[in-house]
Amino acid sequence: MAEVVVIGAGVAGIQAALDLAGHNIHVHLIEREPSIGGHMAQLDKTFPTNDCSMCILSPKMVDVSRTPNVTIHTCSEVESVDGEAGSFRVRVRKHPRYIIESECNGCEDCVHICPVEVYNRFDAGIGVRKAIYKPHPQAVPDIVIKDQEHCIECGLCYDVCGREAILREDTERFIDIEATSIIVTTGYGTFDARNKTQFRYLTIPDVITSLEFERMINASGPTGGKLRRLSNGKPPRGIAFVQCVGSRDIAAGRPYCSGVCCMYAMKNAMLIKEKNPGITVTVFYNDIRAYGKGYEEYYERAKDLGVRFIRGFPGEVLEENDHLVMVAENTETLEMETVHPDLVVLSVGLEPSGGAGDIAKMLGIPQDETGFFSIADQKVGRVLTVKPGIYVAGAATAPRDIPDSVAMGGAAAMRAYLDTLRAE
Ligand SMILES: Cc1cc2nc3c(=O)[nH]c(=O)nc-3n(C[C@H](O)[C@H](O)[C@H](O)COP(=O)(O)OP(=O)(O)OC[C@H]3O[C@@H](n4cnc5c(N)ncnc54)[C@H](O)[C@@H]3O)c2cc1C
Repeated sequence: MAEVVVIGAGVAGIQAALDLAGHNIHVHLIEREPSIGGHMAQLDKTFPTNDCSMCILSPKMVDVSRTPNVTIHTCSEVESVDGEAGSFRVRVRKHPRYIIESECNGCEDCVHICPVEVYNRFDAGIGVRKAIYKPHPQAVPDIVIKDQEHCIECGLCYDVCGREAILREDTERFIDIEATSIIVTTGYGTFDARNKTQFRYLTIPDVITSLEFERMINASGPTGGKLRRLSNGKPPRGIAFVQCVGSRDIAAGRPYCSGVCCMYAMKNAMLIKEKNPGITVTVFYNDIRAYGKGYEEYYERAKDLGVRFIRGFPGEVLEENDHLVMVAENTETLEMETVHPDLVVLSVGLEPSGGAGDIAKMLGIPQDETGFFSIADQKVGRVLTVKPGIYVAGAATAPRDIPDSVAMGGAAAMRAYLDTLRAE
């Protein structure tokens, strides 16, 4: 049976794997995290419909894990690639999970008894997890991972695990795959807001990023969906969003528009207003880019709900007594505006995923001047690279929303499918 390797199991990679599996192609889906799902698994709702993100993604995650034609390799990264279209040899490095995957049933008894709490990357910094943990409630595979760096070897988890699935020692393993084609869907990272020192991210606890906000407003997130100030745990009375943090900013080395931030800020502003009409919500913006079908109407809906949009950027975030102060020139009215929010959300831009450069080098595919993977033809070949048999899709190619990433995942799958027909 023909085999295809998909690197990165966000929504674009999952879509590519499902489409190929439906054409009877065996897919190796390589994901470096302990669960598949990518960024979409972290989101609360999704624009422009405000559907629950996991309600759309979770069935796809389960489908792909139950499809016999897909082998999922989590905690895994591609180590090397040789060969050419039709006969790539891909070596995958599987990092130790310290769990016998076939034995763990995901009961989480070990998690409940573990006494160690550490920063939870999945909750984007505003939640904690145990040293043995499940990445999130709907993780796929539905099993735990032991974080050996923070484990204190107290032994409680070994005692409580009736299936003896937890390992004291574990090692890296290598898997060799012969593949007709390779699809790269490694997605994006977010701009490090510490670089914009004027907004005092990680200095003032009530200044958070948009991804942190997605976790906070999420019912399965660390606050159970309740909006809270990180400084004192109280509900905020006012929330301000700052757009273009690490987008359209030449000085920050990010001259491009990140495409999704206007829409996700409107989404979150609306969700605040729908749940807590008493909270004042202000969005400081540069231009509103509501470019898709129904997106402009979405913007109008946000305004109707009482979200205030100010065209202008605050120079800095200041602290004054119990609240924050932001002053900006409203470039529509030419008046100075002063806002006193309790919580500031920085709409961080999208950048190439960490390690994109290594993948580019390994596969011999170029990155463009922004660091995202170049596509060979913007008009009719958006998933093609300069290398036959290697395709790119989703936010690995540029900042993209979910519908666009899914469409590209499907398009890359069809290109890879045609390769397998040619190879027969
Ligand atoms: C705050 C915020 C809110 C958003 N809200 C919305 C919204 O409401 N609606 C919408 O349409 N879009 C939204 N987006 C955009 C959305 O997140 C992206 O469109 C979508 O996640 C792109 O999917 P992807 O699969 O291309 O990439 P990703 O979701 O980034 O997935 C990439 C996957 O590849 C893995 N990976 C990376 N490198 C490697 C490697 N070397 N080896 C193996 N695996 C690797 C990653 O771990 C990850 O699982 C939002 C973005 C942000 C930042």
